Amino acid sequence: MRDLQVILDDIHQQLQPFLGEGKVANYIPQLGDVSPKKFGIAIRASDGKMFSTGDAQEAFSIQSISKLFTLTLALQAHGDRLWHRVGRESSGNPFNSLVQLEKEDGVPRNPFINAGALIVTDALYQTDKNAKDVVLDLVRRLGRSSTAAFDVEVAQSERTHGYRNLAMANFMKSFGTIHSDVDPIVDAYFHHCSIAMSCEELATACSFLAAEGLDTEGNRVLSASQTKKVNALMLTCGTYDAAGEFAYRVGLPCKSGVGGGIVASMPGEFSLCVWAPGLDSNGNSLLGLKALELLTTETGISIF
Ligand code: GLN
Repeated sequence: MRDLQVILDDIHQQLQPFLGEGKVANYIPQLGDVSPKKFGIAIRASDGKMFSTGDAQEAFSIQSISKLFTLTLALQAHGDRLWHRVGRESSGNPFNSLVQLEKEDGVPRNPFINAGALIVTDALYQTDKNAKDVVLDLVRRLGRSSTAAFDVEVAQSERTHGYRNLAMANFMKSFGTIHSDVDPIVDAYFHHCSIAMSCEELATACSFLAAEGLDTEGNRVLSASQTKKVNALMLTCGTYDAAGEFAYRVGLPCKSGVGGGIVASMPGEFSLCVWAPGLDSNGNSLLGLKALELLTTETGISIF
């Protein structure tokens, strides 16, 4: 295999003509201010080497990538009991859809759509009233970052305009599947989504997914079995109704966010993060998907 750094630089070069493609999310107005031409990618190999190119050190809004870390903490706290409250099946619907909740008694299909993450946040809140900060603490520790932080303007912007998430949380409360008050749950959720950090930090923070649950310092984050299962959920549900397309074109467990970031893991080998703010119609980074497809095609690496 060619040197990973050479491959990343080559991918960056190949994507130059397409920078700016896609639609930057603006349903959260504050997110719409980001330059659509940003592009960064970072790979952290299991031996600790970091390869990166482009804007890989610039902080961006992690949005739904935070759902991975909320789930990790809730699994630490509740183990398999969490699955009494949220499913593990692809939704085949947009990440912010309400339709299945009506028919399925307020139980979300999986932890990686908005409804599921709200339930997971509620589970976390039940064991720790500081559910907001524990997620930030975790990503700082795992990502070896002293600068990852809530972007309070983004959180406030979503709080003001997040009608759908508020509707969803209230809807689930009406079924009794959200146990606490709705307010602190959506507040924690919006803050988790607003966390700003870089591709290099996120690639580092996700390294436990490629290391049977051990972080970069050898501390256990999840058991090997739980880690395998989180990777499985990323593959089947991490990119919403495009999970099939990602499995087909990329072949790695991935989790995306509307800030334009996508994290992925190749168990035993590396974890990575790519960032390009322009989204496709599913809310996944358009060039992020292209970059990952090029990476796994050029290296021949995939979980399959
Ligand atoms: N904060 C965003 C929302 O709830 C996150 C969505 C996403 O990244 N897919 O709508």
